[in-house]
Amino acid sequence: MPRGARFILPVVLLLALVGSVAGASAQPVQSSANSASGQSFDIKAAADAYLAKMPPAQRARSDAYFEGGYWLTLWDFLLAVFILWLMLHFRWSSRMRDLAERSTRFKSLQTVLYWVQFILVFSVLTFPLTVYEGYFREHNYGLLNQNFSQWMRDQLVSLGLMVVLGAILMVPLFGLVRRLGKNWWVWGSVLMVVFLAFVFLIAPVYIAPLFNQYKKLEDASIRDPILQMARANGIPASEVYQFDASRQSDRVSANVSGFASTTRISLNDNLLKRCTLPEIETTMGHEMGHYVLNHQYKGLVITGVSLVIAFAFVNWGIGYALARWGAAWNVRGITDVAVLPLAVILFSFYFFITTPFSNTVTRTMEFEADMYGLNAARQPDGEANVDMMLGEYRKLDPGPVEEFIFFDHPSGRTRITAAMRWKAEHPESASAEEMERKIFAEK
Ligand SMILES: [Zn+2]
Repeated sequence: MPRGARFILPVVLLLALVGSVAGASAQPVQSSANSASGQSFDIKAAADAYLAKMPPAQRARSDAYFEGGYWLTLWDFLLAVFILWLMLHFRWSSRMRDLAERSTRFKSLQTVLYWVQFILVFSVLTFPLTVYEGYFREHNYGLLNQNFSQWMRDQLVSLGLMVVLGAILMVPLFGLVRRLGKNWWVWGSVLMVVFLAFVFLIAPVYIAPLFNQYKKLEDASIRDPILQMARANGIPASEVYQFDASRQSDRVSANVSGFASTTRISLNDNLLKRCTLPEIETTMGHEMGHYVLNHQYKGLVITGVSLVIAFAFVNWGIGYALARWGAAWNVRGITDVAVLPLAVILFSFYFFITTPFSNTVTRTMEFEADMYGLNAARQPDGEANVDMMLGEYRKLDPGPVEEFIFFDHPSGRTRITAAMRWKAEHPESASAEEMERKIFAEK
């Protein structure tokens, strides 16, 4: 269907263009400025001073770790495509389907049985790269606190989740394909968005606790200022959650999870252990920004648009490939579950080439959340300190093209420059100490 091809290319280019414009608007102004009070404050020099705090050896290590990730993205993609192609070429896929069909006459159950075989074979064959990437490499860089059996336990839980959630998705998806024929991709995207919203909804209650212990943050000296900031920003939160991320690593992080009624803000124990109150406040301000700016809903809408294009491309690609190799692979058509490896190849290809676009979408939202956090918490130095901690595993000072293509969060340079620019325009917040004195005087 050449009509499909003509449709895809301009849309992908348009999305890339929108992405680059959005990325450009999030770029910091890297110049010195005079603050409102007339005092001179050199933004670039202040950002440079923060970046210089990391010893060169540690900086080189962090850069190497992050840059290695660029290549891993490529190897992950190529290995996945190779394995999926093996499944088609050697007719493993059609044999899995035959086995599923012999086991039961119920179509839905056949789909589930095929899916279980598919995900097990795929996981086993990608395991060497998974274990290098997730275990040995993380240990080499000192970024993992788990021994092998603890790590393996998390992997098996993830696999169990994939089996269950994948089955929940595959049964209605193939049901749609069988019912709607070549128009499946429109409703398929709608189904996928509903499925994602469902996963978000259950994640904090049923998924996250499989990997970490969550509990209410009890320490009033930290909880109360956070809840005070939440109330001031119109967030109806009565609890903040903490979780034991130190089980996996020493990385500091916090997140907004859940959907609709299950939405909550959680911070990890590394943040509590390693950070001062201003640093925790600025991080929480950032997370509140995600919440107030409705980033989850916006993200879902953008993902939905991207999925319509992805599924249209997958639909076209399946027609094209099956016309040529369908008989050789013993795949009967688009309604045959044995087509899944081909669908995943096409889907992965689409998301691989649109990575700069999806990165730019999230990076732009992250930058918006940074701005929100600075205004809500008013801790530019706390923000810069946390950005330096994130620099332990994210390259601090990339080039602009590198940041556009590979970064799903702004780089340390971008974030610290934004914090210092905020500070330059708010001379009263010169230091956290001064700020506290000011609040004290007002009370
Ligand atoms: Zn964020």
